[in-house]
Amino acid sequence: MAFELELQTALEAVRQAAKVCRSVQSAITTESLAKKDNSPVTVADYASQSLICRTLQQVFPGDPVIGEEGAAELRVPEGAAFLERIVKECSLVGVKAEPQEFCDWIDRGGASDYSPRFWTLDPIDGTKGFLRKEQYAISLALIINGTIEVGVLGCPNMPVNGTSSAVGVLAWAVRGEGAWMQPLDQPDAAPVQVQVTTTSEASDLLFCESVESGHSSHDWSGLIAADLAIHKEPIRMDSQCKYLAVARGDADLYLRLPTRKGYQEKIWDHAGGVLVVLEAGGMVSDITGKPADFSRGSTMAMNEGMVVTNGVVHPRIIEAILRHAP
Ligand code: AMP
Ligand code: MG
Repeated sequence: MAFELELQTALEAVRQAAKVCRSVQSAITTESLAKKDNSPVTVADYASQSLICRTLQQVFPGDPVIGEEGAAELRVPEGAAFLERIVKECSLVGVKAEPQEFCDWIDRGGASDYSPRFWTLDPIDGTKGFLRKEQYAISLALIINGTIEVGVLGCPNMPVNGTSSAVGVLAWAVRGEGAWMQPLDQPDAAPVQVQVTTTSEASDLLFCESVESGHSSHDWSGLIAADLAIHKEPIRMDSQCKYLAVARGDADLYLRLPTRKGYQEKIWDHAGGVLVVLEAGGMVSDITGKPADFSRGSTMAMNEGMVVTNGVVHPRIIEAILRHAP
C-alpha cells in the first residue's frame, strides 16, 4: 500500500495527541467556562502540536510541517507557567522531556512556505467547540506536489456510530485507497470504509455549517436553503468533524460561505478533511467551483470559502450559492 509508513505514523501521532486533548478537556468545568478561562484549549493546542511534530520529526526528519501554532509565546518568561502545564500533560501520555524540547517540537510546525513535500497540521481545530465540550478535531495531512496524499482526522467527541453512545472517531484516507474510520481508542478494531450519501433531491438535503456565524455566513446558507426548498434544519458543528459528517453520510453537504471579502482559508482547516471526503466519493470545491488549492503556502489564496458535497448535487449547490451571493 502507498504511504503505509506515513499513514501509520500519522494515525499514531493523532491518537496520542487526542489522548492529551481529552484529558485536558475533561478538566474543563462550568465555573472555568463562566470565568472565560481559555487556557485549557491553549494548553491542549500546544501539547497536541508538540506531540505530533515530535513523532513526525522522529520518522520523517526532513519533512516541513505547516502548523497553526508557534512557540514564541512559550519561550518568554510569562509563558513559563503555560509551558509547565504542557510538559505535565504530555508526561501523562508517556512523553517526558525538557520544556525547551517541547518548544522546539512546536516550532517544527512553524513552516509557512510551500514545498514539494510537507505536512499540514491543525492541532485543535474548532477551539470554541473544545471549550464547550462539543466537537473539535485534530487534522493532519501530507501534501506532495500540491496533492493531498494522506489525510487523518481525529474526532474525539464524534459518535462512533448511529446506534451506541460511544464517542471518538479516527478517520483517514490515502489517495486512491478509500476513506476509513475506526473508534479512536481501538487501534486494533477493523477499519470501516465510509461513503457519502446518494441524496439527489435538493429538498431532501441535510447540510452542515459552522456554529460560528463569523466563520460561515448563516444568512447566505439560509437563502440557499429557502431557494432549494431544503426543509431539514442545518447541523451546526465546529471543526473538520463536518468533513467526517459528509464523508460517512451523516450529512449530504458542508457549506463554508465567506463572511467577508478577503478572508483566506487556512490549509490546516481543510486538508485532512478534504481527502477523507474525496476518498469517500464526495466532491470539494470553493464557492465558485474552483478546486481547493494547497500549493500556495499556509493559506488557500486562490479559493473563496469551501463547498463539500456528496458529488451528485455539487453543480446545483454551486449555482444556488452564486445566485445568492451578497
Ligand atoms: P469552524 O469550527 O468550522 O467554525 O472553523 C474553525 C476555524 O475557522 C478556525 O480554525 C479558524 O482558522 C477559522 N476562521 C477564523 N476566522 C475565520 C473567518 N473569518 N472565516 C472563516 N474561517 C475562519
Ligand atoms: Mg482550525
